[in-house]
Amino acid sequence: MVVRNPTVSLDVPVGQLRSVGQRYLARLHRLGITTVRRLLWHLPSRYEDFTQTVPLSLLKPRERVNVHGQVVTIANRRIFPRRMTVTTAMVQDSSGSARAVWFNQPYLAESLAPGTMVSLAGVVKLDKRGLYLSSPTYEKIGSGMFGRPAPSLTHTSGLVPIYPETEGISSKYLRFLIKPLLDRVMLHDHLPVAVLRRNNLISLNAAIRRVHYPASLDQVADARERLAFDDLLLLQIRALIQRRRMNQLRSIPIPFDQKLIKGFISSLPFELTKDQKVAAWEILKDIQKPYPMNRPMQGDVGSGKTVVAVIAALQAAQAGWQTVFLVPTEVLARQHFHTINTLLRSTGLSVGLMTRSMVCLDDRVISKRTLKGQIAKGTVNIVIGTHAVIQKDVAFMRLALVVIDEQHRFGVQQRAALARQKASGSVSVPHLLSMTATPIPRTLALTVFGDLDISLIREKPKNRQAIITKIVSPSARQAAYRFVRERVRQGRQAFVICPRIQSQPVNGAMPPGRRGTMAGLWAEVKAVKEEHEKLAGQIFPDLRVAMLHGQMKAREKERIMQEFRDGRSDILVATSVVEVGVDVPNAALMIIEGADRFGLAQLHQFRGRVGRDAHQSYCLLFSSGDRSANARLRALAECDSGFELAEKDMKLRGPGEFFGVKQSGIPDVTMAALANLDLIKRARAEARLLLREDPGLERYPLMRDELERVQRFSHFE
Ligand code: ADP
Ligand code: MG
Repeated sequence: MVVRNPTVSLDVPVGQLRSVGQRYLARLHRLGITTVRRLLWHLPSRYEDFTQTVPLSLLKPRERVNVHGQVVTIANRRIFPRRMTVTTAMVQDSSGSARAVWFNQPYLAESLAPGTMVSLAGVVKLDKRGLYLSSPTYEKIGSGMFGRPAPSLTHTSGLVPIYPETEGISSKYLRFLIKPLLDRVMLHDHLPVAVLRRNNLISLNAAIRRVHYPASLDQVADARERLAFDDLLLLQIRALIQRRRMNQLRSIPIPFDQKLIKGFISSLPFELTKDQKVAAWEILKDIQKPYPMNRPMQGDVGSGKTVVAVIAALQAAQAGWQTVFLVPTEVLARQHFHTINTLLRSTGLSVGLMTRSMVCLDDRVISKRTLKGQIAKGTVNIVIGTHAVIQKDVAFMRLALVVIDEQHRFGVQQRAALARQKASGSVSVPHLLSMTATPIPRTLALTVFGDLDISLIREKPKNRQAIITKIVSPSARQAAYRFVRERVRQGRQAFVICPRIQSQPVNGAMPPGRRGTMAGLWAEVKAVKEEHEKLAGQIFPDLRVAMLHGQMKAREKERIMQEFRDGRSDILVATSVVEVGVDVPNAALMIIEGADRFGLAQLHQFRGRVGRDAHQSYCLLFSSGDRSANARLRALAECDSGFELAEKDMKLRGPGEFFGVKQSGIPDVTMAALANLDLIKRARAEARLLLREDPGLERYPLMRDELERVQRFSHFE
């Protein structure tokens, strides 16, 4: 008799499935599994291989097997000292018989009563009574199927899916839900056949079925590629649509005054590198347009991004428009204020600084109210600030350009707020230049930024020497201190970074708002104080050792930084405050305590604080020996290009961890595909084609629905 199950659509809430009870519904929801679609897109993380169905007479020790047979006897035995129940069954097929043994599942004696046909899957072991199956997974077989391959087995035969571990939801339960659905669900493929054919992809139907119950691991790869392609394509479509929307917005076109720029560049105390010139040119070209620039500029630490941004700001100011520089920390804001003021001294432009604790205009300290007034009148050309500048009460009269420095340090919301900043009463949006020293690998750049043009500064200024990086073993610590003393005697300065003390993931891309708890902060302060005491008191009593940490007043921090910059202290013990952007050319030594507690990107950032001058610089990594960090530290020691390190970091941690999956919500398959440049390129080409033929995706309503789904997880650029 053939039973026709009614078909199920993807949008059916899981609660409506007969096999889902109240208790499990809540757990499924916690996993984000709300609909049949979400359930089917909850993909296995691996497979248990039970493809071998063997006769019971041919069992061999240590093999993973599937057997089919009939239960002949089954009995429970209590082992008292250990309060355990052992259930032993004899199972027989036409070739012979074998034992199966389970622990603490006494109910099996009833549910697998003698006479039951079972399929068992597990490992064969040997004890003094012979071979047996140890705690096999079991399922009953319908009586007609004995002896034949059983295609409808869910848990014990073939490649059996294992789903990502989660509390309260076992793989067995998910298989129990998913397997029967695979025969009932309606899957409309949103990809046109031509696209499938061109890209050698399997249908959605095949992909979903095979990813859960593959006949071979090759099938899994095909299925995952297809599912990943879906998301990559949608990401690309979304990027293209966003770009189109951006191009429909209005911005202030800022004319490119070549004479002005040439004059400025020749007034600089150094010659720009070719990459800097190209980047500046790209930006100046972009801001000439009447729609907003949205350009990331990536350049390794010390590659000289600031001056490139200043060139754009100068051009804007010359045309009568204002620029905001947004930076993540107060220390950095002040430093930028200082640098930019110096660079622009000859131009007579007016530069303001706005942070929570210090407000300046040109070389005077003024009140926040006064500066806000000047900003509103449009008389300040450039404002440098922390997120204090994006507060609602700061209104710009003629804002045309926003520069975000160390972009990765800002939260998504902060960036969104900035993008909304407009000149008061204006309908136009500012041009946006976002700078980062943490380059994202090319594959990610293509997916995340899609069609966006990125300015790259790969070349370092000529006067730089490669930094020598060493991992220092605990036994070499004294020698390292002697080395530091020697260098300091020669006039160099040193940073000592204290280990991070937080229960935070090791991840360079943490927005500042989420950096650790108050307790963590205090623990860091304590660590800095102790390290300072040790270095100043015992190790280097003859040298000038200063310290800097997050609990100091802003003015105090500034004074300490200024003294260090002026060479009035030799060694600066600090928390990760100095991580971003701080520029002290004479500092040629970077010592990182507890280096294993930092992520690769962050370590590279620290190291970038030295090697900013012609002096040979050194970075010494003290590690407390966490072995998992070894690969990271070695990568750092071997490589001094941020671009290469980003690629290595992604390989070491996997794209998911690298990017912080939890924040982005990108599914695992897509994450894995973010390392697949070829697939990304094909998705990109298809996205272009589809949109060219059908800009509103009118012909692809299914694709439009899908697009809404990715909108939700792709807010991370
Ligand atoms: P980053 O890209 O890390 O933000 P900065 O903009 O802080 O780097 O520049 C680092 C240092 O290099 C600064 O002291 C800056 O004045 C200097 N600098 C920038 N461009 C050049 C160049 N072309 N030649 C020499 N020094 C440069
Ligand atoms: Mg910088």
